[in-house]
Amino acid sequence: MPSSEDKDLSSQSDNTAIGVIRCEECGLSQRAPTLADEQTLHCHRCGAHLYKQVRNTINRTLALIVAALILLAIANATPFMTFAFKGRAESNYILSGVIKLWQHGYWPLASLICFASILAPFAYILGMLYVLVPLRLGWRPWKVGPIFRRIDALRPWAMLDVYMFGVFVAVVKLSQLATISPGTGLYAYVALFLVWTAALAGLDAQVVWSRIGPNPSQQSLPAVPAPDWIICPTCRLSARKDPALHESHLRCPRCHGSMNPRKPASLSRTWAFLVAATILYVPANTLPILEITIMGKTQKATIFEGVRELVSGGMWVIGSIVFTASILVPTLKIVGLAVLCLSVRSRSPHLNNDRALLYRWIETIGRWSMIDMFMVSILVALVQIGGLATVLPETGALCFAAVVILTMFAATAFDPKMIWDKLEES
Ligand SMILES: [Zn+2]
Ligand SMILES: [Zn+2]
Repeated sequence: MPSSEDKDLSSQSDNTAIGVIRCEECGLSQRAPTLADEQTLHCHRCGAHLYKQVRNTINRTLALIVAALILLAIANATPFMTFAFKGRAESNYILSGVIKLWQHGYWPLASLICFASILAPFAYILGMLYVLVPLRLGWRPWKVGPIFRRIDALRPWAMLDVYMFGVFVAVVKLSQLATISPGTGLYAYVALFLVWTAALAGLDAQVVWSRIGPNPSQQSLPAVPAPDWIICPTCRLSARKDPALHESHLRCPRCHGSMNPRKPASLSRTWAFLVAATILYVPANTLPILEITIMGKTQKATIFEGVRELVSGGMWVIGSIVFTASILVPTLKIVGLAVLCLSVRSRSPHLNNDRALLYRWIETIGRWSMIDMFMVSILVALVQIGGLATVLPETGALCFAAVVILTMFAATAFDPKMIWDKLEES
């Protein structure tokens, strides 16, 4: 029998009135209106996305997540692609690339690819089912707040969309050389890509948070942001602050995350990740990422040589995509984050909105540099036909994957609110 509180939860409308909302990019607290369906609210000051009102978000996301689970299972359990060359053929599964990389001693790269393409998507989908099914039925599962916070943080690491582009690049590269036949797994993966994209686009996390715990709109919020109120940077729960405790020691009663609105030691942590990424950037671009043997002829290719080969083969569109994702984006991320760090260190009051936009771009685009690494795992799995055609990983791939991960960590460690500190002071 559901309790009276459970009935309350199930009968809540999906229309979320947030009350006071703080932009987690610039730190500005502002009154948020109740939005109509499909309307999006952006920050008055920096233009960051605050939230979107999605109609029927729980039912819609739940249906898409169930479909995604079925498709992900099919994509992993059935043959992905078949590579046919000189009368011989080799089929592979998504996991084959991980196994082959591990067998060749590239276990850090194998672990990363397994995590980003299989484990993180499975964990995200199962976590969403754990949260959404009970909420849909009107009851609250055990530790639902902390679990939803963790799976939401996992979302950028579930790289199904980036893997799809990695498959695309691998197929284009191999189509010059041999016959590629899609398997059931690949068809399921394309459908999964579409369902996954729709599920993420239709999820309004604020509705889920309001179903999980007290809806901020139902609390006696002050009409304007008041100093004795504190807002959780993760789930946006507003609570009255205990004056005896510093913000950095407070835990949110709903999501159990830190209530500290600032990222601690942000500059030094960002610099540490950036320096490590810059050091590895050199071998990532100068060492080969692949060793390709065709009919006894062996050739090693760096990232740049891979792009040049695509362009000289007439595939300049896909060559441009790989060049942008693998060369331009990592370079701009390192330079852009260094510029942001230097500007906040010198407390520059200039170009606040441009710097905020640069940070948003760096944070969003960074994971797409994994395209080349997914392509490596697919080629290594697929092209293994004895002495006729083999592809092996090389050290450059390890360094490049490390650069991608370190720059993602650097972007996460950077606190964009620092950009606005000088303006706040004045
Ligand atoms: Zn803002
Ligand atoms: Zn919270």
